[in-house]
Amino acid sequence: MDPRFSTDTALSHRHRRGGFAAVAAVAALVMVAANCTEVSAATYPCSYGTPGRTPLVDNPPEGRPYEAGTESLPPSQRKYRALTTANADFSAGFCECVFPRPWAWGMPLDAALSIMRAMDRKEQEAVAAFARFGVPESRVPVEKRTIWLRSTWRSREEQECLYTRVGPDWVARPGTSRHEAGYAIDLEDWGAEWGGTDIRLLREQGWCWTVNTEPWHWEHRPTLQRLGLGHRCIK
Ligand SMILES: [Zn+2]
Repeated sequence: MDPRFSTDTALSHRHRRGGFAAVAAVAALVMVAANCTEVSAATYPCSYGTPGRTPLVDNPPEGRPYEAGTESLPPSQRKYRALTTANADFSAGFCECVFPRPWAWGMPLDAALSIMRAMDRKEQEAVAAFARFGVPESRVPVEKRTIWLRSTWRSREEQECLYTRVGPDWVARPGTSRHEAGYAIDLEDWGAEWGGTDIRLLREQGWCWTVNTEPWHWEHRPTLQRLGLGHRCIK
């Protein structure tokens, strides 16, 4: 592991090891169950865009799922239990590189807490906006209370899969992605039609934009600064 990432929490290390084991098991199953090698670049189903073309459109999500049992929780607690949305409906089967998992998986604790604060703020704003139309808090859709994340932490194996399928123009070389270190996120709702709400709320909580060709990709500035990488923030 890159020693720059040694300040990650023990929790994230534990999750990362678990993630490796889980993904390795899935990967073994993949090679048997699905002939993924037949997926060419032209038909690649990845939600991150089409190889060779600028993926500057906000592709529709592949579902907006929650962890098992979450539906029984009050909506205000449910938001913390959303899963990442890449391949969330599993329509791409095992041929998708990135698997849905709890969004805080493998994330430094302060980064996860900052996203929870942004979610709380989004919920407060939604409740207030609906109240202006006489809608009680209990009727505010949970979708309006949550910042949906397409991908957060990724295993080395997932990064290698993306790198192989999508190519080096759009995917960081395995071992160098901030997603592998847990402090990068890809937003689900980043396009103009969302009015910049999630981006504004995350920026208020210290997240910054670091890759000028990827408006959906944000990194946690305090973690970058701890690692001496604060210069990565564009704005
Ligand atoms: Zn990203």
